Parts: sequence; structure tokens; C-alpha cells
Amino acid sequence: MSRIAIIGAGVGGLATANLLAQKGHDVTIYEKADQIGGRAGLLQKDGFTFDTGPSWYLMPKVFEQYFAQFDIDVNQALHIQRLSPAYKVFFEKHDPVTIRGALDIDARTFESIEKGAGDQLRRYVDAGDKIYRLALDHFLYTDFTAPHKLLRRQVLRESLGLIPLLRTPLHQHVSRYISNQSLQQILEYPMVFLGTSPFKAPALYSLMSALDFKEGVFYPKQGMYSIITLLKKVGDQYGVTYRPSTEVIRVIHRRNRATGVLLDDGSTEQYDVIISNADLHFTETQLLAPEVQTHPEHSWQRREPGISAILMYLGVKGSLPHLEHHNLYFVEDWKKNFEDIYERRALPRTASLYVSKTTATDPSTAPKGHENIFVLVPLPAGVELDERALQAEADHYLTKLATAMNIPDLKDRIVSQTLFGPNEFRDRFYSWEGSALGLSHILRQSAFWRPKPRSAKLKNLYYVGASTLPGVGVPMCLISAEIVARKIKKARRKR
Ligand SMILES: Cc1cc2nc3c(=O)[nH]c(=O)nc-3n(C[C@H](O)[C@H](O)[C@H](O)COP(=O)(O)OP(=O)(O)OC[C@H]3O[C@@H](n4cnc5c(N)ncnc54)[C@H](O)[C@@H]3O)c2cc1C
Repeated sequence: MSRIAIIGAGVGGLATANLLAQKGHDVTIYEKADQIGGRAGLLQKDGFTFDTGPSWYLMPKVFEQYFAQFDIDVNQALHIQRLSPAYKVFFEKHDPVTIRGALDIDARTFESIEKGAGDQLRRYVDAGDKIYRLALDHFLYTDFTAPHKLLRRQVLRESLGLIPLLRTPLHQHVSRYISNQSLQQILEYPMVFLGTSPFKAPALYSLMSALDFKEGVFYPKQGMYSIITLLKKVGDQYGVTYRPSTEVIRVIHRRNRATGVLLDDGSTEQYDVIISNADLHFTETQLLAPEVQTHPEHSWQRREPGISAILMYLGVKGSLPHLEHHNLYFVEDWKKNFEDIYERRALPRTASLYVSKTTATDPSTAPKGHENIFVLVPLPAGVELDERALQAEADHYLTKLATAMNIPDLKDRIVSQTLFGPNEFRDRFYSWEGSALGLSHILRQSAFWRPKPRSAKLKNLYYVGASTLPGVGVPMCLISAEIVARKIKKARRKR
């Protein structure tokens, strides 16, 4: 069995460690932070408990499949519950709309806003659902190195209809179904989850609406960090070694093989296989010597980072009854907001944003008589915000939020506040261009075109997590772990 080092204890790193340790490998995870989980972290402050990153539990089947390999029923273990309502949307100039996550009811809501939109929603979601099933069955769990599997007649037949959706931007596709801007926004916002814009993302990602309208929006009873806790529990069971507060500063190599890691205390450790769960740009340009970089600095000029963000973790006194668990606020100038972020790369003055109120589902995340609020404002990658600038931006958006969601005394009621911005994404996660999510999911960075999970220069160096296939999001990182574990197994068989 092999000695395997994993650099980074994000979802991808933790999930891969478990799969490999279960097969009998000797696995060690190095994590520079003192806490595991990476972007899916936990913040406990002033009596409040915040999930620092992910808050939407989507694609439950992916979680089920991953944990079933360890004989764990994840729905039971994490007490997964379906949220109803799924989310509430606030608009700059219209009344809010609540999405139930039940297609019959949501179709009626759409119909009440635009004649014919109810049936159109059904058609749109059904079409998205077909793409989603196809993706799960054939495209998400592959690294595209076995093209014969994708060229089978049935897969080809089912996939042919998707080709026009590769070239059509999502917004154009949505406009064929629905005219009303507010309803279009509801079908387009999930592109932000993929770090991209509905004006650039391929229409293939209409599959995302099958998640919130058909499959459902879920939540683990004790919050998203309970996923990390469960991953660690499995790792402990199979003997994974965790080395928190230990940074890898170099991957050592000899000819075309990685041979070990150099740690921040100056010591080195020898390994048979190395897997990096760190940001791919950082791994390639900082951890590897130039002659063994598959993705050297110049290759990144052609790449596009996903959004950065301001995150606010707020403890608020009193109740906020008109907020649901998930809340979105969409500005009227929808297109300009995306252009500011993706084209001009300028700080927007007005922005759509996301607010989560975890106390709606889990009151234990705040002291009695308080609410737990997480705010995410998408920003362009590459911006610099020092502490003062971050505070000024946060104040600006809190004022907007207070008006948009009709909470005039919001600022006076904040009893705990922690901010996290682009500089923090860069410094804490070594994230390329301070992106919150990693490479955006434009077509040339999706599926076949996303960086592959194995180095082209070092035979035994692999990549796992949001930077590589299939991409951004907790379920995607679980799939990424399965792809890498399978590749390592196959490589061992060939030896
Ligand atoms: C604000 C926000 C909201 C999100 N919302 C959702 C959501 O609602 N639903 C969803 O499914 N997904 C969401 N995501 C995306 C999801 O959280 C990420 O895609 C996923 O957690 C990334 O995991 P990863 O495996 O790529 O590792 P990361 O989380 O990127 O972790 C990598 C780890 O490597 C460590 N590391 C880096 N360099 C070194 C080194 N040299 N030595 C040692 N350790 C190192 C880092 O400290 C870090 O812990 C969100 C992300 C963010 C930021």
C-alpha cells in the first residue's frame, strides 16, 4: 500500500483521504489552518455559530452515493431536511417572491406574474432535469480520459440535443421561455454559485434550476460544518492522519515523480503519491519547480477566475420574521451588475446579494432572542480591499440590505460582526485573484475543458477540489474525490 500526502483539508482533500484510507493506504493530510474544512469552515463567536462558506445543500444524491461507500446513510447521519420555502427573493422595485421548491405551487406563482409562465417553468425545469440526469449518469463522474464511454450510441443520442446549449448563453436560453425580468432572474441567479454570469455561462447550466424547483433545497440539521465533521469521523475510523497548522511549501520531485513535501518547519517527508487540494494556480506556480509545472503562470492569462465576495457574519438582536432561511436580493440593473463584476472588474455600487438566516432552521446557532445572519455580496476577482475599505463596503451594503429587506434598524441591532473579503480569500486560501470559488464555469473552463485531476509532468501528482473536474461546490468536490481515488487505483493496477 502507498504512503499518500494530501495538501489541504478542504472537502475534496478530506473526501479523497477517506476513500484511499479505506483501501488500506497510509494517508496524511497537511492543512495550513488550525481548522479543517477549508472554505466550508466554522466560526464560533459571541455565542453565534456560523458556517463560513457553503449554506445550500444541493444534489443530495451525490452525498448519498459518497457516504454509502462507508455504509453511512447521510440523510440519517446529518438529519437532512428539505427546506420549505426553498428561498425568498427580494427585488429592488417589486414585491418579494417566495419559491417553495414544489413545482406545482411555484408554477402558479410564475403564472401570477406572467401569463403562460407557469407552463413555461415546467418545461424549463423538465428540460433542465433531463440534462441533470444525463450529467450525473455520464459526465460528472468522469475525467474524460475514456472517450469511448461517452461515444456509446445511447449517450451520443441523448447528448446530441445538448450541443446548441453549449454555445447559447443561459440568459438567451431563459429569454426563450420567460419575458418577465424578475422571473428570468430567478432562473439565472444559480450561475453565481458557479462563479459565472448568466450572460456568459452556457445554457447547459439550466440544469441548476432542476435542483431548486424539482429535487429540492436541503439542510443538515446542525449546519453545513456537520458535513466536515462527518468526513473527519470517517477519516478517523480508517486511520487518516491530520496535520493541522502545517503548511506545505514545496512538492519535491525527482525526474517525473513527486517524491515528498517540504513543510514550513523546514522538515521533509517522503511519499509515493501526492494530492493537492490547494488552489490549482497556487499549487502549480508556488509549490512546484518551473520545469514540472503543467499550468505555468503564463497559461493563467487565458483563464478566468470566478467571483470574489464580501462575506459578513452577523449576530442580530431580536427577530427578523420576514426573512426565510435563504434570501436573495436582485437589483433592477441585473446585466450591469454582472458586467461590473465580470467585464469591467470594477467594484459595483449596487449589487445583488444573498442573505442566509440559519436561525430559521437551527435556533441553536444564536443566543436566545437573536438571529444568525450571513451576507454574501459578489465582487469581481482581483480587487484589493484592506480592512478599512472592507468595512466601508460592508457598511454600504448593509444600508442597501436594510432598505431592500425592510429592516430599517438593522445596523443598530448588530451585536456581533465579522467580515471576510477578497484579501482574506487570497491570504487564507492562496486563492487565485482572491476568488471565492475558484475558476469560473464558463464553457472553456467546464467539463472536458476544466483542468484535469492529474499533473501532466509528475506522474504521481494529483489535484482534487473546486479547481479541477467537475468544479465548484461541495457535491462537486465529493465527486472530484471519487475521480481522483479511482485514478490512483487504476495507476497502481498498471504498475
Ligand atoms: C462564500 C462561499 C459560499 C459557498 N456556498 C456554497 C453552497 O451554498 N453550496 C455548495 O455546495 N458550495 C458552496 N460553495 C463552494 C464550496 O464551499 C467549495 O467549492 C468547496 O468547499 C471547495 O472545497 P475544496 O476541496 O476545493 O477545498 P478548499 O475549501 O479550497 O480548501 C483547500 C484547503 O487547502 C489548504 N491549503 C492551501 N494551501 C495549502 C498548503 N500549502 N499547505 C497546507 N494546506 C493548504 C487551505 O487552507 C484550505 O483549507 C461556497 C463557497 C464559498 C467561499
